Amino acid sequence: MIVAKNIDKYYPNGCHALKAVSATINRGEVVVVIGPSGSGKSTFLRTLNQLETITTGEIIVDGINMYASSTNINKLREEVGMVFQNFNLFPHMNVLENVMLAPMKVSKRKREDVEPLARKILCKVGLEARIDNYPSQLSGGQMQRVAIARALAMEPDVMLFDEPTSALDPEMVGEVLEVMKQLASDGMTMVVVTHEMGFAREVADRVLFMEDGQLLVDDTPESFFDNP
Ligand code: ADP
Ligand code: ADP
Repeated sequence: MIVAKNIDKYYPNGCHALKAVSATINRGEVVVVIGPSGSGKSTFLRTLNQLETITTGEIIVDGINMYASSTNINKLREEVGMVFQNFNLFPHMNVLENVMLAPMKVSKRKREDVEPLARKILCKVGLEARIDNYPSQLSGGQMQRVAIARALAMEPDVMLFDEPTSALDPEMVGEVLEVMKQLASDGMTMVVVTHEMGFAREVADRVLFMEDGQLLVDDTPESFFDNP
């Protein structure tokens, strides 16, 4: 589903953030990316939907080379949902409007088609009672669940999570991980950068360990955690 082949990334300041990284994410897999701060996890994740460009190498999504000049990158991005550490909700829109915005603006779908879908997804993440609230009226865990719902409303083929629980108070981490576990058991393809080792152990099909821009380990959680 996603194949990264030998990718290198230099930032404009010269920082060599990714060094010959190759990895394959198969359909339906949950791949967790771990490693020390500054090891390139977030950069790697962001190259998968071209929030960051790569310097050399190839990224192929569903057989389509993301860097070929003929590729419609906006179309490809619609198939890849992303959830950030800091939610990135629109503060002047209520929960329902936040979730409906992308399908209406980006995919030009009609409100009457999008609203039932948005309500269904909000129900799934446990926020049906919150649809009229504004982000400022929600807890961090609720905001992050709205952010997940917003990404799901585009009906993506794959979901990318960049430290989705790192900005949360500890008591709110569980409710967000529960939603992610539910998604995983529904068969969603997911790539998750996280420090939550319990989640990695319990939910991941594979663990990628990065250090200093290199992908050092690509293994099952059983083998990674139990054979140090
Ligand atoms: P991680 O997610 O593992 O903490 P990052 O991918 O954020 O790592 O960062 C990898 C390296 O790239 C770090 O050395 C970081 O300082 C550097 N880096 C990240 N973003 C930028 C940027 N926009 N410009 C320059 N260097 C960056
Ligand atoms: P994370 O590990 O979650 O990526 P960071 O603290 O490394 O968080 O980075 C936060 C933001 O700062 C990111 O948008 C990253 O691209 C940017 N950044 C990180 N390092 C640098 C750098 N050396 N120069 C410029 N921007 C950077």
